[in-house]
Amino acid sequence: MTKIRFNKPYLSGKELYYISTTIHTGRTAGNNEFTKSCHRFFSERFGFNKPLLTTSCTDALEMSSILMNIEPGDEVIIPSYTFVSTANAFVLRGASIVFADSYKDNPNIDADSIESLITEKTKAIVVVHYAGIACDMDKIMEIAARHKLFVVEDAAQAIDSYYKGEPLGSLGDFAAFSFHETKNIICGEGGLLVTNQIDNANRAEIIWEKGTNRVAFFRGEVDKYGWVDVGSSFLMSEILAAFLYAQLEHMEEIQGKRKLIWKNYYEGLVNLEDTGRVKLPEVPDYATQNGHLFYMVCESLSERSRLIAHLKAAGISSVFHYQSLHSSKFFSEQYRGQALPNTDRFSDCLLRLPLFFELSDSDQALVISKVQEFYKK
Ligand SMILES: *Cc1c(COP(=O)(O)O)cnc(C)c1O
Repeated sequence: MTKIRFNKPYLSGKELYYISTTIHTGRTAGNNEFTKSCHRFFSERFGFNKPLLTTSCTDALEMSSILMNIEPGDEVIIPSYTFVSTANAFVLRGASIVFADSYKDNPNIDADSIESLITEKTKAIVVVHYAGIACDMDKIMEIAARHKLFVVEDAAQAIDSYYKGEPLGSLGDFAAFSFHETKNIICGEGGLLVTNQIDNANRAEIIWEKGTNRVAFFRGEVDKYGWVDVGSSFLMSEILAAFLYAQLEHMEEIQGKRKLIWKNYYEGLVNLEDTGRVKLPEVPDYATQNGHLFYMVCESLSERSRLIAHLKAAGISSVFHYQSLHSSKFFSEQYRGQALPNTDRFSDCLLRLPLFFELSDSDQALVISKVQEFYKK
């Protein structure tokens, strides 16, 4: 029986109240009061320019793909160690995906491997801040500037995390966040697009509203609205925005607790890293951790399987993470690139431990002691 689950979504308390407020006003479609309150929060807290709530991070990535005018023949460089949406958003518009490897000691894209993947057809580099820990952005932005490429930050896991003091999501041309049930701040299914260039930000608003200038109309900037561009229905319903706002009001508290749990794991397991038994998350000098997930990297797939079983026997649920996209069922036959050994190693050896707001000190202590016990044997 599972005594300690892997994740438990946290409710701050006002979610239902705000949802019922929304329902009582009758304004349940997108871009109403709660959406605007969320947008204001993101602008004030992180300085994001024109943030737009979307139905998911996946949709925010798809919006970035439309905004970059990705078309068949274009190449997009993506780390292989990521969630399928990072690739699908561009595959849907006909792009060819060029997969990059991770660093040896860090699942993030190896910035030094990017340049050799660039061709005449390359249009964008998509980075994923894995576990909310920043990629090497100065290096990546410099390469992108030199080759005139877009940079998209898949910041699904990266809310309230920083690169040299700058919030993740504010560095690339576009960024996409997720409020899926499994993330730090949630609303069931939801996302956020951040557009860091003014021309794109204005167009983003149009694509968001089915290709119309409805947003400008409601601001009184045009006297009627109509079809002005391609687009889709990317807005988040006001009902979910109400849920999300209740979470954002408690962001400090949620983040504080999650970061503390992360730190406790690190301190509780660092002896295993010191003795070379496992590898713990690397937080480079330029990065922060945001308590999104805590992982350890085992020696081998079989060691990881045995550790999962050892924890399971104690009622503790631990889970591995991405399977390399370049060797997925969908992609492997069309993959023409080099071997990506670091990506494959993280697929085989990375294990995530339970991390959620309500994880008690005693339950966390049990997880740590069971991991320690495994490595004593
Ligand atoms: C969760 C996640 C996504 C997908 O987010 P959705 O909001 O579910 O669409 C994309 N990329 C990464 C790296 C993720 O962790």
